[in-house]
Amino acid sequence: MRIVIIGGGPAGVEAARAAAPHATVTLVGDGPPGAWGPLVCRVWLAAVVAGERDIVALGARAARASAGWQARCATDLAALDVEPLAGRGRLDGPGAVLVEGADGAQSRLEADAVIIAAGAALALPPDLAPDGERILTAEDLGKLRAVPTSALVVGDGPTGFELCHTLSLLGSAVTWLVPEAAPRSGIAPEVDGYLTRLLERQSVRVVPNSRVTRLAARLEGVSAVTASGERHGAEVALLAFGRRPDHTAVGMPADKATTDVYGQTKLHGVYLVGDALAPVAASVAMAQARAAALHAVRRSSEPADVNDIVLAFMEGPQAAKIGRLTTEGAVGSVTVALADSLAAHVMDATEGFLTLAWDYGGRVAGAVAVAPRAAEILAPVAVARRAGMRLEDLAAIYGPHPSVSELAAIAARQM
Ligand SMILES: Cc1cc2nc3c(=O)[nH]c(=O)nc-3n(C[C@H](O)[C@H](O)[C@H](O)COP(=O)(O)OP(=O)(O)OC[C@H]3O[C@@H](n4cnc5c(N)ncnc54)[C@H](O)[C@@H]3O)c2cc1C
Repeated sequence: MRIVIIGGGPAGVEAARAAAPHATVTLVGDGPPGAWGPLVCRVWLAAVVAGERDIVALGARAARASAGWQARCATDLAALDVEPLAGRGRLDGPGAVLVEGADGAQSRLEADAVIIAAGAALALPPDLAPDGERILTAEDLGKLRAVPTSALVVGDGPTGFELCHTLSLLGSAVTWLVPEAAPRSGIAPEVDGYLTRLLERQSVRVVPNSRVTRLAARLEGVSAVTASGERHGAEVALLAFGRRPDHTAVGMPADKATTDVYGQTKLHGVYLVGDALAPVAASVAMAQARAAALHAVRRSSEPADVNDIVLAFMEGPQAAKIGRLTTEGAVGSVTVALADSLAAHVMDATEGFLTLAWDYGGRVAGAVAVAPRAAEILAPVAVARRAGMRLEDLAAIYGPHPSVSELAAIAARQM
């Protein structure tokens, strides 16, 4: 059986890992397998929160992380006999992919199944294109040659929060132009206000109801004009916009792009996974990719379980969420302070909280946390949800002490 995967990001690599033991796999990518655009943001944010302020050191650290991860992926895929093929892939009917190399040479691959993991493109309004110098995307952070004295962050979502945090900690005067009445992460609305206040304490100037319609780069800086005619200027602008899959770019006919629970489209044997299906997070993308790959090689009929995935953003503190809270149909919840765990006192970081929610029948429904390592705090909740545990089951679990992983059980014991 032959599987062709288009895209070597988190989803493509995960699909290759899952399918390779059962099929001949070709991974078509326009960059090295494992290349992940947001890695630069992750590294900068983690390093800046840890106190790094030298932009050259930040660049070197991001390059090291990226090279290390790509080398790791290349070794793993080689061990699994996955054939990497450099170029841009495009569906050429249900059982074939046309690949165009950087030199323009074309090849055609036949396949029993095609997994499209080509990601998504920034959904930018026409007059807001990045120029790679003064108008940058989050993935362009590494192009900054010095810490800008002032910066506009245009748009919200998790990326907007993270860019404001990174730049303000670095010392830039940040003006945050958010399109609605208040910044929204879209991941955990329960914590948006908390994190916005934190950023304001760091002197980020939040300007609500500022939908930017025009952005121009000049020699001395950038200027933004909002829908209401207000003007804002700064040395650079960072764009934080949502992403949208571009099915036509990979030859996927729009009327065939609806998928079943495995990501299989109306074209038999052609799957859409990850951001190419709907942008959420790399963890969701990888879960979908694995489910699609195992379905394609007929090894599993389990769809991806994306409801039990912890979604997280920000750092110092981190915000994380899983499942449903009372605002989304859970019947009750309890909130505990991070200071209720000894680990918080050991780390000397007591600011933060966890809210644990339950369903009818007292089953664990979801949780949200803001704290250092919030994603790890929610890991036991993910397991509890997956196992269908009741609050008393979770309450009986004693984790390593002292560790932040104890907090969910501490919350359950309060009930
Ligand atoms: C700033 C930012 C920070 C983020 N932070 C996190 C985070 O901390 N945790 C998390 O889980 N998620 C995070 N995300 C979301 C995450 O990046 C995506 O959900 C994830 O990368 C999706 O993986 P993917 O493999 O589907 O797509 P991508 O990562 O976009 O990979 C697709 C790959 O396919 C390539 N490609 C595209 N078209 C073709 C073609 N025709 N032929 C060959 N190759 C092609 C692309 O160049 C790319 O390498 C973040 C997103 C952003 C923008």
